[in-house]
Amino acid sequence: MKIDVLSLFPEMFTGVINTSILKQAQEREAVKIQVVDFRAYADNKHRKVDDYPYGGGAGMVLSPQPLFDAVEALKEESHTKPRVILLCPQGERYSQQKAEELAGEEHLILLCGHYEGYDERIREHLVTDEISIGDYVLTGGELGAMVIIDSVARLLPGVLGNEESSVTDSFSTGLLEHPHYTRPADFRGMKVPDVLLSGHHKNIEAWREKEALRRTWQRRPDLLVQGPLSEQQRRWLKEFQEKR
Ligand code: SAM
Repeated sequence: MKIDVLSLFPEMFTGVINTSILKQAQEREAVKIQVVDFRAYADNKHRKVDDYPYGGGAGMVLSPQPLFDAVEALKEESHTKPRVILLCPQGERYSQQKAEELAGEEHLILLCGHYEGYDERIREHLVTDEISIGDYVLTGGELGAMVIIDSVARLLPGVLGNEESSVTDSFSTGLLEHPHYTRPADFRGMKVPDVLLSGHHKNIEAWREKEALRRTWQRRPDLLVQGPLSEQQRRWLKEFQEKR
């Protein structure tokens, strides 16, 4: 996968994309990440990328020309049909499902805004998706782009080893993940559940399934109405409700 990021502050990405799993993912050639300063595409003498809003009002608006030219150049260079994603608080709320969908693409271009926002023609005629990382307003799209890069890259084949597998991660199964414990078995009198020490794999699996369901029921009951439940899961839910 190739991910191009268009930003006015490329230095913000240095630590994130050159550390830990994202660094390894690039070394293993699972993903190629390029951060481009789209100011370089501004066709005016002072490389100005924004202007005052028509009709007046506070703040500056990103002009269409630098972003259109940058996206067109990246498309031409790569010969792909990329998903062009605008980071935007008014976009579709980002989710694990969206990360999984994007992980199936060969090329993403992420556009990071700043200031008051974008010229509307960017939304209407340049992008394929608008993504918000939550109902709050950031100063720029860079943190959102990093969230997308990280969550997508870890789903690409060969990026996570067995120790970090994403298969049972929260949301991947439709539920939150089950609780984890590590040594010691008894920490200041706080004990690890016996079943996890039993070595009985089938019972451990069943315990994890049940605890994932319990945790989801307690913390995110909205997730339970999104998918069908098995007979066993329905029985467990009834048990949790009766015990409440
Ligand atoms: N005036 C805009 C509005 O009310 O919708 C907010 C502009 S914000 C200060 C500047 C830029 O930060 C946005 O263009 C976008 O790229 C990014 N941004 C802010 N909040 C975001 C969010 N929740 N998700 C994704 N990007 C966000």
